[in-house]
Amino acid sequence: MIYNDFQKEKLSALGFGAMRLPLCPDGEIDQAELDRMVDAAMAAGVNYFDTAYPYHGGKSESALGQSLRRYPRESWNLADKFPGHQNVHGVKPLKPEEVFEEQLVRCGVDYFDFYLLHNINENSMSYYGNPDNHFMEYFLEQKAKGRIRHLGFSCHAAPSGLEKFLSLYGEHMEFCQIQLNFVDWKLQDAEQKVAILRKAGIPVWVMEPVRGGKLARYSDDFEARMRALRPDESTPAWAFRWLRTVPKPTVVLSGMSNLAQMQDNLKTFAEDKPLNDEELALLEEIRRSLARMIPCTGCRYCCAGCPMELEIPTLLSMANDMAVDKGNFNTVARYTALGEGKRADACIGCGQCADACPQKIDVPEEMIRLADLMGGLKTWEEICKEREAAAEALKKAKAK
Ligand code: SF4
Ligand code: SF4
Repeated sequence: MIYNDFQKEKLSALGFGAMRLPLCPDGEIDQAELDRMVDAAMAAGVNYFDTAYPYHGGKSESALGQSLRRYPRESWNLADKFPGHQNVHGVKPLKPEEVFEEQLVRCGVDYFDFYLLHNINENSMSYYGNPDNHFMEYFLEQKAKGRIRHLGFSCHAAPSGLEKFLSLYGEHMEFCQIQLNFVDWKLQDAEQKVAILRKAGIPVWVMEPVRGGKLARYSDDFEARMRALRPDESTPAWAFRWLRTVPKPTVVLSGMSNLAQMQDNLKTFAEDKPLNDEELALLEEIRRSLARMIPCTGCRYCCAGCPMELEIPTLLSMANDMAVDKGNFNTVARYTALGEGKRADACIGCGQCADACPQKIDVPEEMIRLADLMGGLKTWEEICKEREAAAEALKKAKAK
């Protein structure tokens, strides 16, 4: 395992992100498979594990805690997050003191090694940027009591938003987690964010290194060229090698969903094999081809607030499939099978999803495009008219 220095500690360069855990057929977390994954990670020297309050509808924390507690407490670092971003739209505001105590119980621990303010972005700054919310005082107090060892934040804001957050709280922040991979280096200005954090002396943690799996598979042509250059490496390994070659972050969190993915990542992080110029040029070519796709990572932050209960990430992934291959029979069949009221033309354009989306995807616009692309179901004009009527009805219902 590759390790990086953080203050006086050694952190494994690969961290296990518990956002997309293995599932049983009934949709519950597959604890036995999770235990096997944690066993493999611990055996290979991984010592960083990351969860969050909303992951798996609140069940990630307890599942991960249960699995880790089979090992001595000092042999693993546990990171958890305060979901202040949910206080922007949440009906019942989440109080730091209540959430924190609940998280300790869920995870079955007395302290968190790493604790983050979750999802700083332009939207959530209406909560995080308001000193009347007193969350910082509370978390600094927990740190003083030894219940938080290191305090940091995860950030989806643009560079200007990151700078604004740092101007308010930078002095207390020990690390920052950002979305970083070879596509977002340009697409989400991650290069600029890394520069800002380095200037502030704040180490960089990486989330979405393979963009929810989007950087784990490419076209046959690209994959053939990758295999020719690195016959012994898997496709996802390339995205990790890029991280280790270019920005060199402290921890790379990968949201692994099964033992095979874990084993593949452990093999990659067993030793450094930096990319050469020819390999970097190939990734740049891939980046340019992918940059035209809708950058949905499947995080599902948008789903809970959708009044039409649309399966938004699935619809966006269908839109991407159609962009690559317009006549894709399978995609059209899957789309049709969703049924009336669950396809893109059911979107009423309320915009809740776009506000919640850390990737800043204009989901309502994409829904119109997808409905139009699928054709034959409704015309653009019909969709817009129906949207206006549905939005009006929703407004009236809310006003009552
Ligand atoms: S804009 Fe459409 S997809 Fe987004 S939350 Fe509203 S109805 Fe759902
Ligand atoms: S649209 Fe945005 S919020 Fe929704 S799943 Fe995709 S990336 Fe996440």
